[in-house]
Formats: sequence, structure tokens, C-alpha cells
Amino acid sequence: MPPQHFVILGGGISGLTAAWYLALNAPLTTKITLLEASNRFGGWIQSTRVGDDRILFEQGPRTLRPVGLGGLVVLDMINRLKISEFVHALPKDAPAAQNRYIFYPNKLVKLPGSNLISGIRQTLSTKFLLKSLSAVVREPFVRPVLPNLDESVHSFFTRRFNEQLADILISALAHGIYAGDVKKLSMRSTFTNIYNMEKSYGSVIRGAFSRNPSPPSDEDMTLVETINRDNEDLMKIINKSSLYSFKDGIGQLTNALVKDLRGKPNVELKVDSRVRELKFEDGNEIEIITNNGKFKGDHIISTIPAYELVKLLPMLPHLEYNPFVTVGVVNVAYEQPNLLPIKGFGVLFPQATPDNRHHVLGIVFDSDTMPLQDHPKDNYTKVTVMLGGHYYETFKEEELPDEEELLHQALQTLETTLGIYATPAEYVAKLQRKCIPQYYVNHHSRLGGLHNAIKENFKNRLSVCGSSYLGVSINDCVFNSAKLALNLLNDSKKDVVVTGLERVDVKIE
Ligand SMILES: Cc1cc2nc3c(=O)[nH]c(=O)nc-3n(C[C@H](O)[C@H](O)[C@H](O)COP(=O)(O)OP(=O)(O)OC[C@H]3O[C@@H](n4cnc5c(N)ncnc54)[C@H](O)[C@@H]3O)c2cc1C
Repeated sequence: MPPQHFVILGGGISGLTAAWYLALNAPLTTKITLLEASNRFGGWIQSTRVGDDRILFEQGPRTLRPVGLGGLVVLDMINRLKISEFVHALPKDAPAAQNRYIFYPNKLVKLPGSNLISGIRQTLSTKFLLKSLSAVVREPFVRPVLPNLDESVHSFFTRRFNEQLADILISALAHGIYAGDVKKLSMRSTFTNIYNMEKSYGSVIRGAFSRNPSPPSDEDMTLVETINRDNEDLMKIINKSSLYSFKDGIGQLTNALVKDLRGKPNVELKVDSRVRELKFEDGNEIEIITNNGKFKGDHIISTIPAYELVKLLPMLPHLEYNPFVTVGVVNVAYEQPNLLPIKGFGVLFPQATPDNRHHVLGIVFDSDTMPLQDHPKDNYTKVTVMLGGHYYETFKEEELPDEEELLHQALQTLETTLGIYATPAEYVAKLQRKCIPQYYVNHHSRLGGLHNAIKENFKNRLSVCGSSYLGVSINDCVFNSAKLALNLLNDSKKDVVVTGLERVDVKIE
């Protein structure tokens, strides 16, 4: 029998999605309680307005990609929440969608985009890209390694292409997504699609040119089948877009989820409720002890970071293995328009860039990417500088920059890389502590161990989702939470134990 009272730990996008999918699909007699430790919902989604509400700053995620099954599920959610009219999409042919830069070794380098002619010209005029050309031509003939073997992202790209590509281009991408170190991140768990290309086609290049993407698994189909197909208008816009957000930023999605959930009679959402202890009693009941009381439920969905869950359930293995990196996020807005010398999405800094003394990961050109989020009468130049990530891992607490120092470092970076010397009209500098999990090599097999331990110790009383496990993007978080909610309602009727980590079940490999 499916659980009668779900208790969800954590009110970020993962927890809110799990609650919403349960509420959408469970009978009204099923109780759903969501507990959030802080005084607000959204977790790392932190959209704020400054300067008399004229300027939008994102201190966490800023854009969504309309790709893959996760992308489809998020769009369906937007449609059902009736917030399609607030979607701001970046057309595929806009400069911010076409132009991406890296800073290497001491200058801006434009990366080849979708335009073939300018892509070739760019490649031929850039030394490290030119050197990688022969590696690209050779790659289809490089023998694949044994299936299911994991290795670092750096080792994979060095093996299949060359070390320079791994050091420069791929490390820049890893900075952009994970703020992480390519020599430590797991290829299998972070660049999964590319990892699978070698597995399925024997080569990344052959995989990329194959027109035969793998179909959704039967397990994923349960979720895909729930997608409402009546969102034609939204799909028309999205099909022509490479990225999107909302008028008031990504927070508009979590605010809409909270508003919708508050209208459901069987759902209770609580802020300022840190879960301190979980007591799994004999029978089905679980006692949940928070900082302001205790109550009982019969299934826990944990979406809190793994390093928080281990405090509640120390017997579970591997939860502390992966570190979470700290990122300095500095939002800056200038009153003057068009201060940027180039148009594009932004600049990423590779690990190989010398003299990166402020540990810059990248700069996002917010006013090029999402130009309509600020007051329509203004025309700000707006950027976000991100610093630290894996570079801060060896820092002692007192060595981490405070907010003033972060701002100073960001402004200096804007001067030296983009020639911007103007005084900002508004800024916010924040050290986002332990915000992105680092899936280190063999993450997949550790998740297999965790899956088995949850199954054995908790039967159908505990499941997990959230950015600690199967993907950090919002698309991944939504997809995994939605799938978990549906599996819990469907499979537990058949007495199948659901942990949220079925995808890594070692037996089905
Ligand atoms: C700077 C930055 C930029 C990013 N950019 C992008 C982007 O552009 N696009 C994209 O797709 N993704 C991006 N991401 C990734 C994405 O935002 C996150 O992975 C995602 O928001 C994580 O959501 P979550 O719900 O799994 O976890 P969280 O947001 O961490 O939510 C977990 C919640 O649990 C609560 N909690 C913790 N302990 C307890 C407890 N004991 N009891 C109760 N509650 C507890 C926390 O307060 C928190 O609210 C970015 C992330 C960061 C940090």
C-alpha cells in the first residue's frame, strides 16, 4: 500500500517538485508535509530585486535549458502552473546564444559556434583549437575502454582527444556547470551523455553525428506519459530558444509552486523547521523531530544535501564522500548601457589560465542573456562574476574572501578582462557556502551502495532525491523528484521498494 503521510525534507526545487507531483497524483486522503530549515523556500534559487526593485539579480541559477526529458517536464510544469506568459526566452540566433568566450592564456577567445564558416575561421586562428583539430579527426579511431569503467573528466578527454583540450576547453565547461576540478569530477556522472556516446558508438564524434538518440527507458516513460501536450504556444517559443528564464527570474517558478501547493488541502508547507532527528519505529511509523516540535509520518523523502542527511542517518554509506564547493557570486549593474566590449553569453576561465589570482570561474553577461528582466525604462549593463569553487577547497575559513573582498576581486576582474572601469550602480556580493556537490570518480557505484543500504535498512520508508545524487541542474532536480513521486505512488502499490536511486541499481546494468 502506498504511504499515507509523506514527509519531505527540504524546500528547494527538488522538495517542492516532489510535493507538487505527489499532490497532483495522490488521493486527497494522502497527507504531504514539507519541512524547510530556513525562513524561505527555493534553496539555491535566489532571485532578488535591488535598486527600488528596478534590477533583478540572480544569486543562484539564472537560466534553464529547454532540452532533454528534464527540460520537457519543467516546461510541462510551467504550463500547468500557468506562468508561461512570464517566460523570457533567448532566441537561438541571438548573439548571447551564439557567442561564448574563454579567457586564455591572457585574452578573450571566441569559441566556434553553430556557424560553420566562422567556426572554421575561429578554429584556424586559435592555436590551441588548431592543435586539437587533429585529435578530433583521430578520435573515432581511438579504441573505447571497458564499458562501465569510470575515470575523471580530464582523463577521458585526454584519452579520446588530447590533454590540451581537457586542460583548456573542458575545464572551462566544468567551471561553468560544477565550479569543479576536471581532474576529480567523474566522467560518468557529470558528462553522462558524452560518456554514453563512447559506450554506445565507440566514439564521441560518431555518437555526436548519430541521429539516433537513445529512447526514454520504460521507467522514464511513466513520467513522460503524464506530460500534458496542450502547451503548443509555449513549445513554439521554446523550440526557437536556447535558454530561458522568467520576468522575475527563476524564483518565479518556485514561488508559483509554493502558491499552488498552499491551495491544496492535503499539503502543509513549513519554513523555519529544521529536521533534527528521525526515529524509524517498529511498524511503519517514523517520528520526525524538528527545532519546533515533533510529529509522525510513514515515508520520508529527503531532498536535503547529502552532508545534512548523514547527520540524521549516520548509518547510510557514502553520503560524506563528495565535497560541496563554495562559490563567490558577485552581481554588478552599471547605469551605462553597452559597456561590454563583446556580445555573448559570457566568459569562462579554464583551469589552465595562468595568473588567475582571484580564482575566477567565469563571468555571465546577464544584460545580453536576459535583457528584459529589469525596469523597461532602464538600460543597464549587468554581469555576474563567479569565483572560487574547487579553488577554495584548500582554503582555511579565515582565508576565504569576505563580501567586500569578493566585490573588489570581481571589479578588478571586470577591469582587466573586459576593460570596464565604471562605478557600479548596484551590486550584491555573496559567498554561497557548500552550494554545488562534486560528483567525484566512481560516484555511480557509490550511489549503488547507498541504494542497497536504503533498501535493506528502511524498506519503503525512505527515499532520496536532490542535487546530491543524479544531476545538479534544475532540469535534473525536477525530473528526478517528479519520477520519484510517481514511482512512490505506483510501485509501492506492488510492494516494490523505491529509493529514488533506481537508475544506478547495479543489478540492472
Ligand atoms: C551559484 C549557482 C548557480 C547555478 N546555476 C544554475 C543554472 O543556471 N541552471 C541550472 O539548471 N542550475 C544551476 N545551478 C544548480 C541548481 O540551482 C541547484 O542544483 C538546485 O537548485 C538544487 O536544488 P535542491 O532542491 O536539490 O537543493 P537545495 O536548493 O540545496 O535545497 C535544499 C533545501 O534543504 C534545506 N535543508 C537543509 N537541511 C535541512 C534540514 N535538516 N531540515 C529541513 N530543511 C533542510 C535547505 O535550507 C534548502 O532550502 C546553480 C547553482 C548555484 C549554487
